[in-house]
Amino acid sequence: SKLVYTFGGDASHGDDPRAKDKNLLGGKGANLAEMASIGLPVPPGFTITTEECVRYLKEGSDFSADLRADIAKALTHIERTVGKNFGDESDPLLVSVRSGARVSMPGMMDTVLNLGLNDKTVEGLAKVAGDDRFAWDSYRRFIQMYSDVVLGLDHGLFEEALEIAKEDNGFFADTEMTADDWRALVKEFKAIVEREQGEPFPQDVHAQLWGAIAAVFDSWDSDRAKVYRRLNDIPGDWGTAVNVQAMVFGNMGDTSATGVAFTRDPATGEKAYYGEFLVNAQGEDVVAGIRTPQYLTLRAREAAGADKPSMEEAMPDAYGELAKVFELLEAHYADMQDIEFTVERGKLWMLQTRSGKRTAAAALKLAVDMVEEGLIDEKTAILRVDPMALDQLLHPTLDPDAARDVLTTGLPASPGAASGIIVLDADTAEHKAERGESVILCRVETSPEDIHGMHAAKGILTARGGMTSHAAVVARGMGRCCVSGASAVSINLKDRTLRIGDRELKEGDTITLDGGTGQVMAGKVATIEPKMAGDFATLMEWADRIRRMKVRTNAETPEDCVTARKFGAEGIGLCRTEHMFFDASRISAVREMILAEDEGGRRKALAKLLPEQRKDFTEIFEAMAPLPCTIRLLDPPLHEFLPTGDQEFAELAEITGFGVDHLRRRAEELHEFNPMLGHRGCRLGITYPEIYEMQARAIFEAACDVAEKSGNAPVPEVMIPLVGTKRELAILRKLVNDIAAEVFAERGRELEYLVGTMIELPRAALMAGEIAEEARFFSFGTNDLTQTTLGVSRDDAGRFLSTYVEKGIYGRDPFVSLDVEGVGQLVSLAVERGRATRLDIKLGICGEHGGDPASILFCEKTGLDYVSASPYRVPIARLAAAQASL
Ligand code: PEP
Ligand code: MG
Repeated sequence: SKLVYTFGGDASHGDDPRAKDKNLLGGKGANLAEMASIGLPVPPGFTITTEECVRYLKEGSDFSADLRADIAKALTHIERTVGKNFGDESDPLLVSVRSGARVSMPGMMDTVLNLGLNDKTVEGLAKVAGDDRFAWDSYRRFIQMYSDVVLGLDHGLFEEALEIAKEDNGFFADTEMTADDWRALVKEFKAIVEREQGEPFPQDVHAQLWGAIAAVFDSWDSDRAKVYRRLNDIPGDWGTAVNVQAMVFGNMGDTSATGVAFTRDPATGEKAYYGEFLVNAQGEDVVAGIRTPQYLTLRAREAAGADKPSMEEAMPDAYGELAKVFELLEAHYADMQDIEFTVERGKLWMLQTRSGKRTAAAALKLAVDMVEEGLIDEKTAILRVDPMALDQLLHPTLDPDAARDVLTTGLPASPGAASGIIVLDADTAEHKAERGESVILCRVETSPEDIHGMHAAKGILTARGGMTSHAAVVARGMGRCCVSGASAVSINLKDRTLRIGDRELKEGDTITLDGGTGQVMAGKVATIEPKMAGDFATLMEWADRIRRMKVRTNAETPEDCVTARKFGAEGIGLCRTEHMFFDASRISAVREMILAEDEGGRRKALAKLLPEQRKDFTEIFEAMAPLPCTIRLLDPPLHEFLPTGDQEFAELAEITGFGVDHLRRRAEELHEFNPMLGHRGCRLGITYPEIYEMQARAIFEAACDVAEKSGNAPVPEVMIPLVGTKRELAILRKLVNDIAAEVFAERGRELEYLVGTMIELPRAALMAGEIAEEARFFSFGTNDLTQTTLGVSRDDAGRFLSTYVEKGIYGRDPFVSLDVEGVGQLVSLAVERGRATRLDIKLGICGEHGGDPASILFCEKTGLDYVSASPYRVPIARLAAAQASL
């Protein structure tokens, strides 16, 4: 099979399906080939496959003879198409070399431009172009980029040399540098290379090319790429492709330019071309944010009140071409595209297209608009929105009426709002965030080295860079709010201060960002709840029509119930009653119950708790009726409720009349070495039935009260935790039934209710056939089921799990995303055995996995009836359930 695929010119691969394969050619390579094949102006080039990268990395970084031969042929294709030869001293072919994995990865080596220049070819280039300055500018850029990304030298050394050269000449901008200035700088750059690496800058153009190819391959295994892969769940064995393409030049004077654009607004989804360009510049100038770019359209320029002309005004012909390309690309891909282009002396060239990263709000608007435009159908629209991205829309935004102490306004690069403390570097951001602090990462500009800090931060502020700068693009992809290009901000890393105009702030001071307006504010600004209307509601309606599984919520307070219902919850899948026990006003009665010497003592304390529990359930039923509510009886080990400090013991002594010493001794008796596997769950109900009796009574009395008062009867589903045997459930089911009968007799009314169990122990899953004889429903408690199946403690896993994920032992944290292969087998088996006994047994999941899209897909395939997720995850689960059923 081929190792290299050509594109552009007369390249053709017959009907070889691999020639279109994104997995093989990477997103960039596949799309370049596709653009060329639909007749768009793409400079010719070739793509080395991802397979070859994987082979190269596995087999010890050696190029095969086959690869050398294929690349020689592919180079000839480029040479023939453009009519120039690589290394030709009179008229050299120059190429760009770029990485390109299946999905775009900011952690990897990105681009080397102008490859093929050396001391001889630079003269040839100058002659052919008739422009000395352009040729020497290109050469110094090449040395700088190649030294940075291929030779691994510190780019700061080169930037510093350039700054000094400008200072010596009294220049402000790079554009003031003349041909001779660039020539002198090249000399200096070469001296830096020789000094730093002990050998001269490579003059052999083929050695340059192989060096760049090796650098792209090796970048797949760089630390930054690994971090990015871990954060984004990208497998380590995909590899990256390498794209080598004939150069076109955006830096050939004032009729040349380079830019990046989106076919629609990636922040809002609005149907308007959107982008930035720079006259007389090369691609990386736009992204690096070194010069502030100009707007693409007249409309955008006017809206921003900028004075430099837009591309529409400055280069109307090339702009017209570009607009046509936008339309063609959107029609072809039926999606919003993110594009890189270059104009070389008036002629437009396309360098990249890909589906554009977008904010959640934009994703919704694009999906809904494109259905209305007839570009895509509803199912495609549902699949277009990443359920996890909805999270961005479900959280509070800044209150428009709250007072704002605005320090400055930058570009609204990624929407949302965030308050947090100022942090000036990525490592500190990560460190502080790990300790639970909200941080705002403030940088002059960001680079891929900052990814981990951006991920840890609530928001990102940069002093330099446009709407398509690294910070802006990455922040939008991550759903972090971002204000970029706030040029009034100056950062002093030595003093750890940040100055905005005449206000001096310190690292650690609180600021607030508004990514929708670009405002930077001092202090914390009040927020308001989000609205679930418009495109959000439309897409959710489509999703609800398609999904099979119901979506419930895990909730234990009336407030949570109200939130979850607003988000579309169709019932409670798990109400953890112990959360009610922790309430400050009740904890002493709970402690009194636990520390009592005998049943009589416990009953006395439980009698105090009954009215409180009844009130809890009444409020919950009122919020949820007539939807089903699964209420779980007490689960955690009793020692979790015990008093700890002297004061807590003293208070309890007062209430109970027992001495502090006596209470301390009782508490010690209750100590467990392994409480998660100890006296908890249904074992409490078996040993102290009076606890479950009180809870069952509270449930049924509350249900009767609500039915009487509102006529809207709730359907309680009483759930027994941590069952491992049929007998446990049989005993406790009888207990619940007896109490129900008692309460119904007292109240003179019968209500529908169910008794069921959690399946959260491997034995329960294995014995599900038998257990189903006693259970009307199963709810998979995948938190405990994961803990007990893997033998990994939920509470202690944090110490080693990240290493496990890094080393690929687990693909993802198994407490976040269900271990489908292992734990999944137990779930499938229990479903099968449970249904075999009781055909209409109700099946759901209430572990954290119920809100995780990948796990929801598993639940759909396994045939569960519902998933239950925390309130803010309910919309995510609704969309994920719809996607799962497609
Ligand atoms: C579970 O174990 O998955 C569960 C939902 O119960 P808890 O998290 O309360 O143990
Ligand atoms: Mg559990």
